[in-house]
Amino acid sequence: MIEVDRIHVRFGEGPGAFIALNDVSVTINESEFFTLLGPSGCGKTTLLRSIAGFIHPSGGAIRLAGQNILSLPPFKRPVNTVFQNYALFPHMTVAENVGFGLEMLGRPRAEIAATVEEMLALVKMTAMASRRPSELSGGQQQRVALARALAPKPKVLLLDESLSALDLKLRKEMQIELKRLQSETGITFIFVTHDQEEALTMSDRIAVMSAGTIRQIGTPREIYDHPRERFVADFIGDTNFVQANLSADGTVELPGGARIRAGLQEDAAVAARPVTLVIRPEQTVLEQVPEKAPLSGVLENVVYCGTDTHYHLMLADGARFVVRRQNNPARPVTFEKGQRLGIGFEPQAVQVLEG
Ligand code: ATP
Repeated sequence: MIEVDRIHVRFGEGPGAFIALNDVSVTINESEFFTLLGPSGCGKTTLLRSIAGFIHPSGGAIRLAGQNILSLPPFKRPVNTVFQNYALFPHMTVAENVGFGLEMLGRPRAEIAATVEEMLALVKMTAMASRRPSELSGGQQQRVALARALAPKPKVLLLDESLSALDLKLRKEMQIELKRLQSETGITFIFVTHDQEEALTMSDRIAVMSAGTIRQIGTPREIYDHPRERFVADFIGDTNFVQANLSADGTVELPGGARIRAGLQEDAAVAARPVTLVIRPEQTVLEQVPEKAPLSGVLENVVYCGTDTHYHLMLADGARFVVRRQNNPARPVTFEKGQRLGIGFEPQAVQVLEG
């Protein structure tokens, strides 16, 4: 539905120019919850603002239902933005804030009143319709900002780090709320965040960005289970990288000498070469007998984290490895620091990256 086609954004001129988006292409489907995820400065906001019309790319096209919208000013695009700071009007009540966009569009009074009522019910703020923004909590202000952006029924809603001002508990509640709102309204959401957990929880699909480019696009599961490169594997969740040697027969030699058949593409095993394995800490188990496991390491540190415990080990090649184990007081385990332990995992779950 939204086709971003080789968008190029440059700030400044000449040798000091900065390329914020380098020929970025992505297609976002109708009614999709789509997330732009990446570290600070990678170009997420620039892409969002290009879609909104606040930034003019120097090359490429942005098509909405087939029509190039790049020449349209922001207010003529069927998109609306929820800004990070909410940008509510302080002198207006909640209801007036929500109705503001519709007033500007010159909609009839009765229609405005009905839509405001509908939107306030949607974000569960009906009881606070006559309050002013200063009389609301951060989470409530966030809901009003959402209701205001949804009121003109845009085809696309752009959300820029919309939950980052909220504390962790409220943020988790709002993540569920936002997802509910999106599926109830069927509006396409393009959501910007640098928080990988937030992206994994909420999105239908995610684009992982780095330095003005998109590195990988996929469902949360695809991105987490099948990262295509080290940057993506590292940015999404905790991970262990293990240096290994791939043989022509498709097996991989691990530090310590064991061989496994990792989750390789069919055609990847043609040439013997060094590879990097991606092994997630929660997909591993500790074994008391090191010889029984494909990898082993010396336990260096144990970090208790409430729901789980992180065990830090040193592998035969000197690399660090973390095993995460869910805590269960009914089944306590003791592993001693300095002890050599086996690290077990399913070879099929291991991702093989080049180099
Ligand atoms: P954050 O998560 O910190 O908001 P971001 O991924 O959204 O980061 P952008 O705001 O898109 O990043 O910025 C991308 C890069 O472009 C940054 O390095 C930023 O410094 C630069 N940039 C953004 N706007 C301008 C501008 N008007 N002039 C020059 N450089 C800019």
